Amino acid sequence: RAKSNGGSGTAFFEQTMHAEAEQRLAIEHALKESVAGRLFELYAQPQVDRLGNEIGCELLLRWTHPVHGSISPLHFIPIAEATGDIIPLGAWVVEQACRLLAQLQEAGIERTVSVNVSPRQFRHVAFVDGVRSMLQQTGAPSGRLIFEVTEGLLIENLEETAARMRELTAMGVRFSIDDFGTGYSSLAYLKRLPIHELKIDRSFVRDLPDDASDKAIMQSILSIAHHLQLQVVAEGVETAAQADLLIESGCTIIQGYFFGRPRPVQEWFDGAVGALQRSR
Ligand code: C2E
Ligand code: MG
Ligand code: MG
Ligand code: MG
Repeated sequence: RAKSNGGSGTAFFEQTMHAEAEQRLAIEHALKESVAGRLFELYAQPQVDRLGNEIGCELLLRWTHPVHGSISPLHFIPIAEATGDIIPLGAWVVEQACRLLAQLQEAGIERTVSVNVSPRQFRHVAFVDGVRSMLQQTGAPSGRLIFEVTEGLLIENLEETAARMRELTAMGVRFSIDDFGTGYSSLAYLKRLPIHELKIDRSFVRDLPDDASDKAIMQSILSIAHHLQLQVVAEGVETAAQADLLIESGCTIIQGYFFGRPRPVQEWFDGAVGALQRSR
């Protein structure tokens, strides 16, 4: 298209590419600085059971750069993955998750904490030992730590992935398949890997209850999960109608703006402590 526009089209195209490359470099640089300077924050989004009782949270990274402003994880996670910065950044998230779990336990609160783990982070040689030593250092209840991985991780090096997952499940950690149904993998891995939970992707929830195809996909996921005895979390639930249909269909855990937006971890923790005190 640029070429048919004559020379100026090509120049414009090249300029845009150049600006994009520059922006990417600036973000890469800022990312490195921010990882070193710990400029990231963690937010926690509640997950509730079918009665609306909170059972845990998912930790989500937030990055507000002094110059570039707030940058979505959808944008910076792939860059951190490409540069390798995801390794120290992801280790920091795991550390925070373990500290939070230890704090919750100390406060007498039984909640799970889910953490997103990217493929490069998972495959890094020091990952398993890092998790083990973090669990030991903090005394976190490992049975309440859930690692969310995507189908993309599971298609390559299945044997190595499986071995690593088994090492972690032996420590008590559980695995959840994030964005389930959107990847390019087969279902075969469901029987070969130690998986505890599936997360129905937001794209299948968004148009519920009206969209017949999404409804069929959602029910099929619940059926697979039921037969394989896996837990299911629906993500991106924004309305009562969506929550009602999901619960009626047998979904056990709901996450989305309808029950709570992500908020700073400390705020979430204080809320959990407050709820416990009120219930006593
Ligand atoms: P994800 O793991 O699938 O997380 C769910 C995303 O949906 C989050 O976006 C969350 O804020 C958003 N969300 C939750 N409920 C609703 C809802 O009701 N409606 C709508 N429209 N959105 C909702 P967020 O925080 O921007 O994160 C985007 C993605 O970035 C995550 O998708 C995850 O893949 C990645 N990510 C975030 N934090 C981390 C992290 O610590 N490590 C890694 N590796 N990836 C992360
Ligand atoms: Mg997730
Ligand atoms: Mg997800
Ligand atoms: Mg998602």
